[in-house]
Amino acid sequence: MKTTNLGYPRIGSKRELKKTLEQYWSGKINVESLLDTAKSIRKENWLLQKEQGIDLIPSNDFSLYDQVLDLSVTLGCIPERYSALTNNPAFSSHDLYFAMARGIQKEGVDITAMEMTKWFDTNYHYIVPEFTKNQTFNVSSDKIVNEYKEALELGIKTKPVLIGPVSFLLLGKEKEEDFHRIDLLERLLPAYEEILQQLSDIDAEHVQLDEPYLALNLTEKEQRAVHQTYAYFTTKFPNLKITVANYFDCFGDNIETALSLPVHTLHLDLVRCSSQLDDIIESGKLNSYTHLSLGVVDGRNIWKNDYEKSLKLIQKAIDFIGAERILIAPSCSLLHSPIDLNLETNKENLSSELKQWLAFAKQKLGEVATLKKLANKENLSENLEKLKKNSEAHANRATSALIHNQQVKQRLGALSAKDDQRESTFPTRQKLQKEALDLPLFPTTTIGSFPQTKDVRSWRANFKKGNLSIDEYNALLEKETKETIEFQERTGLDVLVHGEFERNDMVEYFGEQLNGFAFTSFGWVQSYGSRCVKPPIIFGDVSRDTPMTVKWSAFAQSLTEKPVKGMLTGPVTILQWSFVRNDQPRSETCTQIALAIRDEVVNLEAAGLQVIQIDEPAIREGLPLRKEEWDTYLNWAIRAFRISASGVKDETQIHTHMCYSEFNDIISNIADMDADVITIECSRSQMELLDVFATFKYPNEIGPGVYDIHSPRVPERAEMVALMEKAAKQIPVEQLWINPDCGLKTRHWPETREALIEMVAAARECREKS
Ligand code: GLN
Ligand code: ZN
Repeated sequence: MKTTNLGYPRIGSKRELKKTLEQYWSGKINVESLLDTAKSIRKENWLLQKEQGIDLIPSNDFSLYDQVLDLSVTLGCIPERYSALTNNPAFSSHDLYFAMARGIQKEGVDITAMEMTKWFDTNYHYIVPEFTKNQTFNVSSDKIVNEYKEALELGIKTKPVLIGPVSFLLLGKEKEEDFHRIDLLERLLPAYEEILQQLSDIDAEHVQLDEPYLALNLTEKEQRAVHQTYAYFTTKFPNLKITVANYFDCFGDNIETALSLPVHTLHLDLVRCSSQLDDIIESGKLNSYTHLSLGVVDGRNIWKNDYEKSLKLIQKAIDFIGAERILIAPSCSLLHSPIDLNLETNKENLSSELKQWLAFAKQKLGEVATLKKLANKENLSENLEKLKKNSEAHANRATSALIHNQQVKQRLGALSAKDDQRESTFPTRQKLQKEALDLPLFPTTTIGSFPQTKDVRSWRANFKKGNLSIDEYNALLEKETKETIEFQERTGLDVLVHGEFERNDMVEYFGEQLNGFAFTSFGWVQSYGSRCVKPPIIFGDVSRDTPMTVKWSAFAQSLTEKPVKGMLTGPVTILQWSFVRNDQPRSETCTQIALAIRDEVVNLEAAGLQVIQIDEPAIREGLPLRKEEWDTYLNWAIRAFRISASGVKDETQIHTHMCYSEFNDIISNIADMDADVITIECSRSQMELLDVFATFKYPNEIGPGVYDIHSPRVPERAEMVALMEKAAKQIPVEQLWINPDCGLKTRHWPETREALIEMVAAARECREKS
């Protein structure tokens, strides 16, 4: 039996890579120092994994920006528009690499970045490969071989890791018409072959090819492509031990394909799909030589492994194929988990009671090693002690008063069908809201936040450090809020917002005030490139002691006769952007959050807010990978939103907001949310996102964004009028609002002022014309 790992976080335990990258980009250090830091992170990671008892340690899991971009570059898959860099001695290979990641505006060249999108259902973003019909592939980097050699110098024979050919193609996008990227496989395989040949030449024994698309719905042609690929590789390299790794969900109906692969090892994600092992045993189709890598330690979450449960699975596998053919592993790359729990020494953040239930990447390696020893009955007394401690931790978690709140559980149990229904249906509500709010045609509003200037951020930092008293801090926020309200009144916006100056982040702000949430000091996880996030930990039953937002919303409303919109983050988004407890279904945790938000909505209404927005930008990204599971998810997610929105009277107008989303497959569910108004990001798609709302005859009101808030560019009035005219062709004008794409927190004041003045003028023009 062996232990193996699929990948380790590369940002460094103190975010060294982030800091070095940003210094390099700003020209403060040269490329050599960047590469030195990168090298020392790799060294530290390899040695750590060895010390923790991992037998098969990955290499090529490191990346300066993104592992998919690395592979595109390695395979010479570089879009035509970067040729100005490749043929110019003024630019290095690193300039090219970072230009592909981030775009470049330098020395007369101006080239946009490649697209970035979410890595399956994680919060990690990868750079999307671009393919043309005549795409060629030429191995043009030694990264994989070099990193193997680098580890060898430290005495470690690593297992190089790369994304498999089928997943690489499917992760990308066709940039021309008339072909499907999977048809490029024939041309791609020789390039992979060359890489595998290089690895064989330097005596690499193992290689891991990630094919996470095996967890998605594949066409027959795609399934055949997987089979063809690995039949080809194993014929060419009979001595190379190839692992095909699947993660994030079950094989589903790709199971026959997976089991037909003549490879040395199949990796299974037994956290996301604990029934996978039974499915394989029952099928009777596992090759007599194939090893199973059992992903029993959760690579996506922060909870300590339940040894008893894992050992049962491991024992079942041993009984099935014998210990020699078993590997113990995390469920997926540890890229998605924070690095080291031992860094968390601030007891106010994480109490020792809570800490005993957690494991970060480093601790997870230890768990993998301990599980192997327990299954192998090595060092029995020492490891049995670990098993005992582990069982105790799980037993006390099951009953801990820190986690379990009977009142919350009772309230959940008592929910009835009417709790997710507004009093009347939309047409009735719409009439009542029209009378109560007295808004013009094409009402104007914004999505919530106004610029979070350096000053605003410094107040918060100084308040946290104790350099500002609460009164001083509040006075500054009041002044900023007041100016923002005055600006909106002057500009002539119809529904105002307070500006969200008191908020650090749209999830953290609520998590900090809710029971059941904890925060780490160093629990950073890479989101993309140098960007890291520190998701809150939802460890217990969620409840709210006091109102969270009423003070600022009511203050803003007291300053104006115009309606101010109360601003909340929705239950699904709070769930989606946190580490969620694994001792109850996600749906239950989501419903608990929904009840807390519902109470807040009711309090806002009582405080005089007639319009309340519940942001749900993460509804779409929460969709499970396999379509078979969509309905179940959508049912509880949409219900949670409705619970949060349904405690108010008909006159109160509920808005929701979603950033850029593909609504095509889920439009009926979006309609089911029954928000009185939905605002969406639409300007970049030139209102194309509205098509599906029109076809569906979406019944409620819609605010399609008329300008891109990701850019400092001030949109022209005529542009916005034209966009709204386009919208009005699709959606009856009585249903339309005018607003920016999203919140303005990343913008500066000068362009924000100008843009909103133009937007209001555009609305006036639209009203005159209709
Ligand atoms: N109300 C939030 C804001 O304006 C919404 C942010 C978001 O959609 N991501 O910042
Ligand atoms: Zn948004």
